[in-house]
Amino acid sequence: MIMSEEEVSTPQYNLLCPECQTGVVRLKYLTYFTWLNEELITVPNFPAWVCDVCGRREYDERAITWLNTLLSPDTGHHPKKRRSTGPRHSDHPLP
Ligand SMILES: [Zn+2]
Repeated sequence: MIMSEEEVSTPQYNLLCPECQTGVVRLKYLTYFTWLNEELITVPNFPAWVCDVCGRREYDERAITWLNTLLSPDTGHHPKKRRSTGPRHSDHPLP
């Protein structure tokens, strides 16, 4: 094994599986399942790296980070809870 060569610029589509060291890990699009609080979230067409020999799967790290940013309300710059400025509808004069 040659570890000195760093995979810097060239995008590699044929990655050796770290589990079995024989298979090739390929990018596939699967349905990703995750729990948000007590709700099961399913994300279709989620990028995952799947070994064609042992079947080891590893979801794409950047995609997971992106998903976590989407799902967690704390990290968002725009908080979704705006209900405190609510009761203006009742002030609207009816014809
Ligand atoms: Zn494998």
